[in-house]
Amino acid sequence: MKKAVLATKNKGKLKELQELLRELDIEILSLDDFPEVGKIVEDGKSFFENAMKKAKAVSEKTGLLAIADDSGLEVDALHGKPGIYSARFAGEDATDAKNNEKLLLEMKDIPIEKRGAQFRCVIVAYRPDGKWIKTEGICRGTITTEPRGEKGFGYDPIFLPEGLDKTMAELSMEEKNKISHRGKALAELKKEIKELL
Ligand code: IMP
Repeated sequence: MKKAVLATKNKGKLKELQELLRELDIEILSLDDFPEVGKIVEDGKSFFENAMKKAKAVSEKTGLLAIADDSGLEVDALHGKPGIYSARFAGEDATDAKNNEKLLLEMKDIPIEKRGAQFRCVIVAYRPDGKWIKTEGICRGTITTEPRGEKGFGYDPIFLPEGLDKTMAELSMEEKNKISHRGKALAELKKEIKELL
């Protein structure tokens, strides 16, 4: 069976990719299987640069096909912020709640019709011979004025996906995966990764 390594230690992400690619006859490992790889600094200027940096480094260090993703929230009225800084918008010790609070505060004077935003996810799959592919998914919506819902993570409680009257944190995992940036980027990856196998 062919092997690939997902550039993460996140067990949720690993399980999600293993399920998605099950029928492709490919064993998906994670960085837990390669402790020697160590930490890869995400200092790129875009989601793509970060995903590429992780995928390339992991592929070069393991000699396997490596898959890496990077994602975040881009708010129209804030010219794409928090973007690549989504996880640490409120500082290095930020929590999801603190990030949401800071975003709502920065947007307190922005009227509803100007509260457009999107989640973006970029995935890079990189082969040891240097051949790579990139896939991307976007989920449009608006930023609410207060948090609602307990599911999901990150900015989900303050993100109202386009066409729905529930926040992302009020959707089941299955409903979220169908419309989410990650779900879309992964669906595209499933089609395109065959080129690298
Ligand atoms: P990562 O690419 O999974 O590390 O995500 C970076 C950050 O973007 C997270 O810490 C969240 O703040 C935000 N983010 C990414 N995807 C989502 C999502 O599906 N819902 C809410 N926040 C997200």
